[in-house]
Amino acid sequence: MRRPMPAILAALAALLAAPAAHAVETSVLECGSLFDSRSGRMLGPHAIVVRDGRVESVTAGTPAEAAVPGAERIDLSTLACMPGWTDLHVHLGSQSSPQSYSEGFRLDPVDHAFRAVGYAEKTLMAGFTSVRDLGGEVAPHLRDAINQGLVKGPRIFAAGKSIATTGGHADPTNGLNAMLSHLIGPPGPTEGVINSVEDARQAVRQRYKEGSDVIKITATGGVLSYARSGDAPQFTEDEIRSVVETARDYGYRVAAHAHGEEGMRRAVEAGVTSIEHGTHMSDDVMRLMRERGTWYVPTIHAGRFVAEKAREEGYFPEIVRPKAAAIGAKIQETAARAYRAGVPIAFGTDMGVGPHGDNAREFIYMVEAGMPAAEALQAATIHAATVLGVEDQGRVAPGMRADIIALGGDPLEDINAVMDVRFVMKDGTVFRSPEAR
Ligand SMILES: [Zn+2]
Repeated sequence: MRRPMPAILAALAALLAAPAAHAVETSVLECGSLFDSRSGRMLGPHAIVVRDGRVESVTAGTPAEAAVPGAERIDLSTLACMPGWTDLHVHLGSQSSPQSYSEGFRLDPVDHAFRAVGYAEKTLMAGFTSVRDLGGEVAPHLRDAINQGLVKGPRIFAAGKSIATTGGHADPTNGLNAMLSHLIGPPGPTEGVINSVEDARQAVRQRYKEGSDVIKITATGGVLSYARSGDAPQFTEDEIRSVVETARDYGYRVAAHAHGEEGMRRAVEAGVTSIEHGTHMSDDVMRLMRERGTWYVPTIHAGRFVAEKAREEGYFPEIVRPKAAAIGAKIQETAARAYRAGVPIAFGTDMGVGPHGDNAREFIYMVEAGMPAAEALQAATIHAATVLGVEDQGRVAPGMRADIIALGGDPLEDINAVMDVRFVMKDGTVFRSPEAR
């Protein structure tokens, strides 16, 4: 015989059964203004009809003109609407802290995965409906959980394990003592470490097997790796070419982390899609990138963050500290030069270095570096979609994914408005609404 469920349990069951975010079939967004990511202009009031996760129509003027019987009306009439943003460089599986290095020995992958759930939600709530995760084994799994509606987060384009060379930035055994190194043995292409053109092919194919969406290489040393040089080239040009050619077979694009000039030049010559950080980018490399249409993703936020933390005693190991101080401080300056030189720039923060959820601050840093606010917003919308190679996001237009956000102010008038995200919709589902503030 079934016993009646106590009221409190019934209430709890109803609460648990409620979907985490509400999806309606059709909604009409009444926007006070709308950023056109194609022209870079802020337009007047618009009504956007969203049906089954896609934009159906975009109508200038009063919402009455877009009246749809039975649709849910969402009042954004005091807000500035725009396409959801894309951060092209995040690491959702981690976030730096003074404990990061020792945690490498103590945490299990599942610990990183639980943390990543929180980081993903923060990122989405900050207005980022898409990210490219450039390194970390958690991301392909997190992507699937988000797509299945189990976890709240942005759409993820995941690199999975970054590809490095022995001792290079992203060799997972850097900094181990001799006994552990001996026990584990030298990592190979399966672990994302290559030392020949054959290894390079195998490493890309392994990423395919693991479900990556994009390939990441570390063409030079890096700031946070437990190694001395942040600039030295760490791949031969042949090795990079082998990565790029194999990647092409699988429809993958390649993102190259690079601080030093020579490594950057080799990566651009070999045909990568984007250069990440680009700290010591010379005028020559800038010219080459302009000619080849190679994108630059500056990650100013990470530079400023590590330069600041380098001043704190004990935040970084001593081998990392001078690199953080020198490289970090330079990135914003390089972004300014690259913008003036006409290098195509797209938006990325390297979050996971800085705190997840603070991504939009990059816009403010880009404007400080001399980019007009409209171009900074284009870098995270229409240009980011181009870098990803996707055609159905980055704009609010019929047929596009309904990734729409709204801010409390007009960022073209005051860029600080990017920190005031009031509404977030991804694939037609509302994750943040103005009433819920
Ligand atoms: Zn990174």
